[in-house]
Amino acid sequence: MLQPDRETRAEWTKTVTAFVEEFIEGLEVAPASATGTALLPPPPAETPGELTDLLARFADAAGQAVETAGPRYLAYFPAGGLYSSVLAEFAAQATNRYTGVASTAPALVAMEHSVIRWFCDEFGLPGTAGGIFTTGASLATLSAVHTARQDRLKAHDPNGTIYVTPHTHHCVAKAAHITGFAPERIRVVPIDAHLRMDVAAAQAMIAADRAQGLRPFLIIGTAGATSTGIVDPLDAIAQLARQESLWFHVDGAYGGAFQLTERGRSILRGIDQADSIAWDPHKSLFLPYGTGVLLVRDETKLRAAHMADGDYLQDLDHGTGVPDYSDLGPELTREFRGLRVWLPLHLHGVKAFRDALDEKHDLADHLRTELAKIETIELLPSDLTVVVFRSANSEQLLKAINDSGEFFLSSTRLGGQFTLRVCILSHRTHEQHVDELIDLIRRLSAPPAK
Ligand SMILES: *Cc1c(COP(=O)(O)O)cnc(C)c1O
Repeated sequence: MLQPDRETRAEWTKTVTAFVEEFIEGLEVAPASATGTALLPPPPAETPGELTDLLARFADAAGQAVETAGPRYLAYFPAGGLYSSVLAEFAAQATNRYTGVASTAPALVAMEHSVIRWFCDEFGLPGTAGGIFTTGASLATLSAVHTARQDRLKAHDPNGTIYVTPHTHHCVAKAAHITGFAPERIRVVPIDAHLRMDVAAAQAMIAADRAQGLRPFLIIGTAGATSTGIVDPLDAIAQLARQESLWFHVDGAYGGAFQLTERGRSILRGIDQADSIAWDPHKSLFLPYGTGVLLVRDETKLRAAHMADGDYLQDLDHGTGVPDYSDLGPELTREFRGLRVWLPLHLHGVKAFRDALDEKHDLADHLRTELAKIETIELLPSDLTVVVFRSANSEQLLKAINDSGEFFLSSTRLGGQFTLRVCILSHRTHEQHVDELIDLIRRLSAPPAK
């Protein structure tokens, strides 16, 4: 019963593919958001259901949502979800290979490792670098904070201090909490007028903390802040970290992928000096949710912080020449995450990704230019593909935009004030969509007719 025959499989696959096709074809005209309920469906029955009925229920539930895959989703971090990655996932899950330890599928682990190594090269990390695909940047950050602690403090020390800015993502606070650091051990360094870490202030705080008997061990630079896309002065932070023997971690969850473009590389200057970099292919490589990555300058440090062994693993060969991923992160059994990144990169070619990132960057610049021309709009500092602005009535403007069903944007607070935020990052968002948004904002910002 649990093993359908070939004919049934073909029929099921056809049913699901037909749904997916219709869904993707409908994205151009789908409403940007739809309201829904969270009523629990009935529990599973003892007897078999009908796939078409069950899929219809799924489609109905999926429709009661913000259209995160569509071209007009410009809130948070739109990723879209590349179809090539979806197919890779289908094949990877069907073969269900075990890649927690390399010897059970060495060629697949080598495939995954080849992508990690290529990322390391793109980021300018040395030959000693390595890393691991995680479920997202939050988990990558957790492993980075743990690795930094093990490397710099050797054992847990509640006096260890971590340096961030008010714009650092809350996943750092979460990681520090999980690894056992009290909230007051997270030191918030002031920012300059362009919302970037004031590195001289960081230096003074580190000295003052040392004088108090605390142990500074980790400093975090953000490459593409969540609220504004702004990049900290990575070069200067790297220099300070070196001078003070701190671990330098870069949170590039959103902005890291811009390293693939020439413009991005100059904005991210200094990222090649990081001890670790966390970033999210499920944001800026347009992949479906569930793929983050941690790159570490010296892979042996990541291994030293995560390695463990068990008698039941004694049959496995550990000398394949490629990493045993279970030694590089908290998971033992894991999905084979490599194919969902490897296949799109090889199928579309790397240039397609560089071009798409450049296109989004151009579109954000275009949006900044056009919004600056609207008298009632105040543009705030932003970078990469995030654009932030206010109007006299920002909250109402956001509500009017989202209620229109044409676009879905989000907001943030800058200097304590409500601020609208646009992020152009979906592979499905193009110039025509951004022009429609500009028109909509212009219309909604026009003074009422007399
Ligand atoms: C999105 C984001 C994170 C968290 O990443 P997840 O993949 O959602 O866990 C961390 N840092 C920054 C800067 C982000 O934008």
